[in-house]
Amino acid sequence: MDLAHERYEYLERDILAANPAADIARIRSAFEYANSHHGPQLRKSGEPYIIHPIAVAEIINELELDQDSIVAALLHDCIEDTDSTHDDIARLFGSQVADLVEGVTKLTRMQYTSREDEQMENLRKMFMAMAKDVRVILIKLCDRLHNMRTLQYQSDKKQKEKALETMEVYAPIAHRLGMQKLKWELEDLSLEYLDPVGYHDVNEELAQITTQHAGFVDNMQAHIEERLSAEGVQCRVYGRLKHIYSIYRKMYAQSKTLKEIFDLYAFRVIVEDIPACYNVLGCIHDMFKPVLGRFKDYIGTPKPNGYQSLHTTVIGREGIPFEVQIRTWQMHQTAEYGVAAHWKYKQGMANEKLGTERDFEWVRKLLESQQDTDPDEFVRTLRVDMFADEVFVFTPNGDVKSLPAGATPIDFAYSIHSAIGNSMTGARVNGRIVTFETPLKNGDIVEIITSKSARGPSRDWMSICKSNEARNKIRQWFKKERREENIATGRSMFESELKHVGLSLAAITANSELLDILLKRVRCGQLDELYAAIGYGGLSAQKAASRMREEMTRLGRLERQRAEQEALQSSLSSGETVYPSTPKGSILAPRRSNSGIIVAGLDNCMVKFSKCCTPVPGDPVVGFITKGYGVSVHRQDCPNADPARRKPEEQGRWVSVSWADTGDSAFRTSLEISAKDRDGLALDVAMALSAQKVKVNNLSARSQPDGYAMINLELAVKDQKELTGVINKLSQVSGVFLVKRAGG
Ligand code: MN
Repeated sequence: MDLAHERYEYLERDILAANPAADIARIRSAFEYANSHHGPQLRKSGEPYIIHPIAVAEIINELELDQDSIVAALLHDCIEDTDSTHDDIARLFGSQVADLVEGVTKLTRMQYTSREDEQMENLRKMFMAMAKDVRVILIKLCDRLHNMRTLQYQSDKKQKEKALETMEVYAPIAHRLGMQKLKWELEDLSLEYLDPVGYHDVNEELAQITTQHAGFVDNMQAHIEERLSAEGVQCRVYGRLKHIYSIYRKMYAQSKTLKEIFDLYAFRVIVEDIPACYNVLGCIHDMFKPVLGRFKDYIGTPKPNGYQSLHTTVIGREGIPFEVQIRTWQMHQTAEYGVAAHWKYKQGMANEKLGTERDFEWVRKLLESQQDTDPDEFVRTLRVDMFADEVFVFTPNGDVKSLPAGATPIDFAYSIHSAIGNSMTGARVNGRIVTFETPLKNGDIVEIITSKSARGPSRDWMSICKSNEARNKIRQWFKKERREENIATGRSMFESELKHVGLSLAAITANSELLDILLKRVRCGQLDELYAAIGYGGLSAQKAASRMREEMTRLGRLERQRAEQEALQSSLSSGETVYPSTPKGSILAPRRSNSGIIVAGLDNCMVKFSKCCTPVPGDPVVGFITKGYGVSVHRQDCPNADPARRKPEEQGRWVSVSWADTGDSAFRTSLEISAKDRDGLALDVAMALSAQKVKVNNLSARSQPDGYAMINLELAVKDQKELTGVINKLSQVSGVFLVKRAGG
C-alpha cells in the first residue's frame, strides 16, 4: 500500500469512530478522485500532494463537521490545482459539495499583502462575506492550520508572509467564530515564525518555571477533584499552562515578567449544569484566596462570540496564582469549537439540511444575542451575514475597498480619488472590460481606465452610482464646471439677503480692509469665492449676510469703545503727565522735568512708552530713537528690545534711558490673567483691583472653549512696586493661576 492510501485508511478509521453511520463509499470515492487528479504533484515536504487534503479532512473530522464538509475537504484543492471543475464535482458529489469546494477556491485565490489595520479589518470582512456558507470558512481555516503545521518546508519569506496573514486574518476569524482551540494553535504556530527569538525565550522561561512548580498542576488538580467529589459534585478537572502566544502578548505588550502574569496556569472544571457552576465557584473560593477584581461571569454575560464560563483567579499553595474556568459540557463544546460545535449537537439528525439559511440564522442569532460589555470587542465581532449591504473589492495593488452593495465601477473610481472618477473612460473587472453599470462582486479586482482628454462625468452617473461619496464628487465637478453661472446667481442672491439685514453690497465692498475681515468671517478668500459658494448651495446667502451683519455690529462696538477709552484717558491724566493716544495706539509723553524718563545725551526730547511692554517706573528700561515720535521706551526684557534681535543698521538708535523722580504720576500698563473660568470671576478680579485702589482703564474677560478664561487688564500705577502689589493681590483671586505683564 502506498503512503497516500495508508494515510487515508487512518482517516477512514477516525471517521467511523466518530460516526459509525458515515457513508464511507462516498468519502472513499472523493479520496480516489482527488488522489488521481492531484496525481504525481508533490508538496514542498516531498510528500504526495494528496496527504494535505487528507490531513485537512482529518481536522474537519475532529471538529465533527458533516460529511459534505469532509468530502469537500478532500476535494478542496481540486479546482485550484487540477483540471477538475465545479460541474465535474457537482455531478459526482452533489452541488452542495461543489459549492463548498468553489467557495474554498475563491478564498484561496484572495491575495493578501500586509496592510494597515483598517485594511486587515476589510480583508477579514471580505473573507467572511465571500464565504456564503460558514462551512467554507471552517474548511479554509483547517486548510490553513495544516499549512501552518507544515510551514517548516517553505522558504523564509513565505514563512513570514503566511505567519503574518494567519495572525492577522485567520486567527481573528477563528476567534470570532468562537473556535478557541484552533485559534490558539494558529497563534502559537504563527508566533514561532514571526518572532522566533521571543517565542523560544517564552518557551524556555516557561520550562524553567514549570520545573520549579513541578507537580503543581497534578497536585492542584487532585486537590480540587477531591474537594468537589466530597461535595458531591460530578465534574472533570483539567489543568494546563496557558498557550504561549497569550503569555507572550502579556509579557511584551504589557511588559510584565512571567512572575507578574497571574494566569500562567488555567484549570477547567466541567460540570453538568449551570447551578453546579456557581456551586463549584463557591468551593474554589473557599479553598483558595481569590484575587480581587478577577472574577468574571461570562455565563450571565456571554462573550460576543458565544463563549460562556465563570472565570476566577485564586492563589494556590506556595503562593502560585492560577485561573479557574468553570463551565458546563455544552459551554465547553462551544468554547473549544465555537460555530463548529453546532454540528456536534446536530449529530443524529442526518436528514436535517446543513449549511443552509437556517444554519446561518443560527450563527447570526448566536452572535447577535450577545450584548457585550466591551464595546470594542463587540464592534470587532463579526456576524457572518452582517455584510449584506457591503461589497469588498480589490484595487490592482491589492488594497481592499469597501463599497455599498450594488456599487459600480463609478463608485470604485470615486472612492480612490475624484480625479480618477472625473477622468474615467472605462473599467476592467478581473481583467475584462465592463460597462459602468456593472455591479461589483466580492473579491473582484477592479481597474479604472483614465484619459487626460476625458470629458468628465456625465449627468446620468449620479443615478447609476450607489455611494453618496461618488454622487457628491460628481456634483462637485458640475459645480466647478459652471462657476461663472454660479457666481452670477450667488451675487444676486447675496445682494438681496444683505438688504434684508439692512446692508448694501456697496457698504461692505467699499473698504478692502473691512471686506477682508467680513470674508474671513464666512471663510472665503475672495468675493467671487463667496458668490460661487452661494451659487451652488455650499453656503446659504442668508447665513452669509447675517454673519456679516454681526461682524459689522461688533466692529462698530469696538470703535465706540476705543473712543470712550480715549475720553477716559484724557480725564484721567490730570497734571503734567499726558497720554494722548496716537493713531497707532502708542502713548506719548512730552519730555518734562518730571515726565519720568531721562534720556542719556538728549535733552528735551519726546518720550513715549511702548505699547508692547508698557514700562512703569522701577522697570529696567532702554530707549529707541524713532523716526518722528521721539524716543520710545521699552522694558529691557521686552522681546522688541532684545539686543540679539536688534537690526545692525539700527544699533546707533538704541539709547540708555533711566527713570527720573516721577512723583505721583500714573503710568499705564497691561496685565494678562489666566484663570479657570467660573461665575463671578471678572467681578472678583474687579473687586480685588478696587480694594487696591487701582485705576482701571479697561478690563475684558474672554471665556476659552476649554473651560479657562483670559482677562486683559489695562491699569495705571505709580511704579513697579505698586504693580507688584496688584499682581500679588490678583494671584490670590480664586481660580487665577497666572498673572503676567503683557509683552516682555
Ligand atoms: Mn489546501
